[in-house]
Amino acid sequence: QHSTVIAGAGQAGYQTAASLRQEGYDGRIVLIGDEPGLPYQRPPLSKAYMLGKTDRAGLQFKPEKFFSDNAIDLIHDSVAAIDRSARQVTLAGGGRHGYDHLVIATGARNRPLPVPGADLEGVMGLRTLADADALALRLNDAEDVVVIGAGFIGLEFAAVAAALGKRVQVIELAPRVMGRAVSVDMSGFFAAAHAGWGVTLLPNTGIRAIEGAGGKVAGIELSDGRRLPAQLVVFGIGVMPNAEIALTSGLPTPNGVEVDATLATSDPAVSAIGDVACFPCAAAGGRCLRLESVQNAADQGRALAARLMGKSAPYAAVPWFWSDQGDLKLQMVGLSDGHDRVIRLGDPATRSFTNLLYRGDDLIALESVNRAGDFMVGRKLFAGRARPGPAEAASEGFDLRAWEA
Ligand code: FAD
Repeated sequence: QHSTVIAGAGQAGYQTAASLRQEGYDGRIVLIGDEPGLPYQRPPLSKAYMLGKTDRAGLQFKPEKFFSDNAIDLIHDSVAAIDRSARQVTLAGGGRHGYDHLVIATGARNRPLPVPGADLEGVMGLRTLADADALALRLNDAEDVVVIGAGFIGLEFAAVAAALGKRVQVIELAPRVMGRAVSVDMSGFFAAAHAGWGVTLLPNTGIRAIEGAGGKVAGIELSDGRRLPAQLVVFGIGVMPNAEIALTSGLPTPNGVEVDATLATSDPAVSAIGDVACFPCAAAGGRCLRLESVQNAADQGRALAARLMGKSAPYAAVPWFWSDQGDLKLQMVGLSDGHDRVIRLGDPATRSFTNLLYRGDDLIALESVNRAGDFMVGRKLFAGRARPGPAEAASEGFDLRAWEA
């Protein structure tokens, strides 16, 4: 019997297992994850789950029965090593599993905070359900919360903490929020929104140290010497791919595990997908990129399952992403990198608008706030070839939704 081993039971690993069965795969599926419990979605951890609006069961992709009904062997252990010549993985607990195909879907982990005091109690990252539970407990008892890093997760958490009545300050080294992903215009809009929720943003600000008392965090010393009180510090300063098992087995890992356009590594019996995989991204002109999103993990899981079932096609899904902060739903299609012009549709004062991001005459990304309709049109536009040019989009009475037809 054929056997597919999947290392990592997160978004990408779960999706591969589910899609393989959907495609009719009748071999063995071994899904190995080092977190306890059933595979779950991470996005609500910094949103609905943190607000108490959804519970653990609400995070799970599927109940236990799904895994037994579909003969997916879920193993709670850590893949310690890959022996590619023997086509076998070794688990930390000592078990071994042979494979015909190995899927590396080990995701990423938080970049540690490189400042003194980062090991104090009450300095926390947010990646796993266990992190979220620990964080929620601490949040209860904290009055002053400092968030380090104004990326998506940091800002989502800041909005939640402010809604729960905490004094929240967000420190960011860069001049603007979400700077890697959105336009200057969108950064400005979200900065103002956070100020409206009572969040204090400190851009262009570094940290010298985290200060403690009795082993617990008590405050932050900024690089300009200022001190902020804090009973809870949450950092979100990016992630690092969990690529060690690939590296030690001799696979190329320039930035995560390198794969080709079909998501295969240099070893045809091993593929990599999701946050850990660096793939030639069609939307980035074929540049090797790691994307950290549900869309990327799920679409790559589906594409890989299809390939393993003999339906091979280059992976070319359009990247999209969302973030919920307070009453604002930000949705994006495409990659904003290198845009040189922003055309705005609608009025930010209504808290509902869309930006079209151009590089020259090419529409390369769309970012919308509370405009799900525009986002849906955007997804269709990016899946096809025809897109409005900047002159048309900037003209009086331009209607994006007319492009849907
Ligand atoms: P993961 O989901 O991280 O799964 C990898 C799994 O493998 C983990 O369980 C890990 O512990 C395990 N693992 C690692 N090494 C080993 C090993 N050696 N052996 C066994 N298991 C191992 N994306 C969006 O698109 N929208 C959002 O709003 C959004 N919000 C987010 C909010 C938070 C708080 C976080 C943390 C992420 C968010 N994301 C969001 C990102 C999204 O969740 C990830 O891109 C996605 O989970 C990636 O899936 P993955 O399977 O590649 O990795």
